Order: sequence, then structure tokens, then C-alpha cells
Amino acid sequence: MLQTALYFSHTLLQEILQPGDHVVDATMGNGHDTVFLAEHIGKTGHVYSFDIQQQAIDATREKLEQHQLEERVSLFLQGHETLGEVIAEQQDLKAGIFNLGYLPKSDKAIITMPETTRTAMEEILKRLVPRGRLILVVYYGHEGGEKELDMVDSFCSKLPQETYNVLNYRFINQKNQPPILYCIEKKR
Ligand code: SAM
Repeated sequence: MLQTALYFSHTLLQEILQPGDHVVDATMGNGHDTVFLAEHIGKTGHVYSFDIQQQAIDATREKLEQHQLEERVSLFLQGHETLGEVIAEQQDLKAGIFNLGYLPKSDKAIITMPETTRTAMEEILKRLVPRGRLILVVYYGHEGGEKELDMVDSFCSKLPQETYNVLNYRFINQKNQPPILYCIEKKR
């Protein structure tokens, strides 16, 4: 079976992550990606995770404690657009992941926004190492979602081929707007 966009995002990360890597979860939510990343960067790596909702921090911290992974992760209750304030520009990043949209079973009015998403993408790309990957899983079925999808699509399409490989993965015959994946890979 073909992998869903969500599942494929983890496959793409798993292919490159190694012990000691530093990585970003730009949209922590319930912490699924943060835990996945923490499991794949070993004791010497580090995960920087961002969300603007306290409930995301609480849910993620609980999951990390259950897996005894909390020492590998910094949780920031602040927007991903402020990433430059907490991660030095000299800090190499091997990967970043965004799940764009709203937190399921939560306030659907709290959504990611094109301008702030774009700022965070630019900050991550500044720090991405060769062979590093920035992945976006875009949920766009809600109000404002199409606008964000347009931004991501146009941003990704304009990235220079000399520096980046850019992949778009989507199912084109499915109902209910399944998420669309973008993967930006920095070339050597
Ligand atoms: N990956 C998450 C998981 O494993 O559960 C799901 C993420 S959910 C689709 C999107 C999240 O982005 C929400 O938790 C929301 O609060 C968060 N968010 C919205 N604006 C944000 C911003 N500017 N910076 C960081 N997180 C933001």
C-alpha cells in the first residue's frame, strides 16, 4: 500500500536521522513527531519543539516522560517564527517538520498562518545541513488552509534547483482533502 503523507513524512526522516543530529518539530501538537524525532537522534542529539498552546506542551511532556526521552528535547511555548531567538544561526539542523493546520480535538480557530510559517521555514533553511530535510505535511481543509497551502507551494516551487531538491507527494483521487506533503532536501 502507498504510504499516507503522515507516514511518509516519518519514512523521509528515518532515512537521514543519525545519533547526534539536531532537529526541529515546528508544530508540536500532541507530540507524536517530537517523540519520533527524539527516538531517532540518540542521547547526543537534540529536538527543539514549538507550539503556542500550553496543552501541546503538557501532552508532549507527558509522552516524553513515558518514553524517558525528555532530556533530549527542549519544549518552547512560543511560535515557530521565533526560532531564531532560541537556536543560534551557527547551529546545524539535520531536519525540521511542520504539520500545518489545527490541533485535532482542540480549538479549530488556532491554526498555523502563512506569514509565520514562512518565517520559520526560512530560519530552518538557513541552518539546514547538506542532505538535511525540511518536511511539511499540509492539512488545508479548514478556513484559511488553502491560503497557507498556496504559500507553501509557491515558496517550495521557487527554491533554486542548484541548492535544493523539492518533492511534492499527494493523492490526487481522494475525497476530503487529505494532507499534502512537501520535502525540501538541501543538496551536498
Ligand atoms: N504534529 C502534531 C502532533 O503530533 O500532534 C500536530 C500539529 S497540529 C496539526 C498544528 C499545531 O500547530 C497546533 O498544535 C497549533 O497549536 C500549532 N501552532 C499554530 N501556530 C503555531 C506557531 N506560530 N508556532 C508553533 N506552533 C503553532
